[in-house]
Formats: sequence, structure tokens, C-alpha cells
Amino acid sequence: MKKVIHCRDVGFDCDGIITARTEEEALTLAAEHANKVHGVTKVTPEIASKIKSVMRDE
Ligand SMILES: [Zn+2]
Repeated sequence: MKKVIHCRDVGFDCDGIITARTEEEALTLAAEHANKVHGVTKVTPEIASKIKSVMRDE
């Protein structure tokens, strides 16, 4: 089982998909992606909870 985040589901116009083994790793990778690709310098609690809400198990 993997944790999968589709960047589009978070609200970005982006085909990026983040996969990780744990929720914590997925959040970290999503934060890095948001920073590098979308210029999001700070993941607010709102963004973090949005990311968690669209996270899927695959
Ligand atoms: Zn993205």
C-alpha cells in the first residue's frame, strides 16, 4: 500500500503525482513539490489538511 497525492486534487493545475510509503513522507514530498514547482514557500495548516484530505491509499 502506498500513499498517493494527485497534485491537481490539492487545487493546482498540475499533473504531478506524489507517492510515498507513509503519510509523513507524502506530506514532506508534497511540500517539496509545492515549493519547487508552485513556489509555495510555506505549507500552512490549511494546505497540510487539504493535502491529507486528498491523499489516497493505492
Ligand atoms: Zn504540482
